[in-house]
Amino acid sequence: MLLVDGDINSLRAPGAPAPDPTTLLAVIVLARSARNAIEGDTNNRCCGVNPLHGPSAGRRHVRVSAEGNRRRMLSLCTLCLDSAVAAPHELRERMLTLPGPAGTRVPYDEPEGSLLSVLGDGISRLVARVRETSPAD
Ligand SMILES: [Zn+2]
Repeated sequence: MLLVDGDINSLRAPGAPAPDPTTLLAVIVLARSARNAIEGDTNNRCCGVNPLHGPSAGRRHVRVSAEGNRRRMLSLCTLCLDSAVAAPHELRERMLTLPGPAGTRVPYDEPEGSLLSVLGDGISRLVARVRETSPAD
């Protein structure tokens, strides 16, 4: 609710400005996490390749860049965990990107300091970040 100024319906109001993709993704991740928690699943991590894949099933080092040999420890959903063993190069191609400056696409968790850059540390860290960055009422 902090991300949408307390009015979730404003996201679909006719003529309303489109929410930025980072905010929309954060709203989806937090809503799914809350729903899962109500059902008793308190998994604090979601897939680091694409948070829309759902909860994490494990963690692996993943090569995230086509250049060099940069690897990151990521939480992975069941599907991505299987790919990390069978076809690790596919994970880099599956990495969720969002619209960046000048028509580019950037990984959803960049740049450093962005709202979603803390998601790799867990959903509770994202909750804390939202509270830190939202204006107090
Ligand atoms: Zn995944």
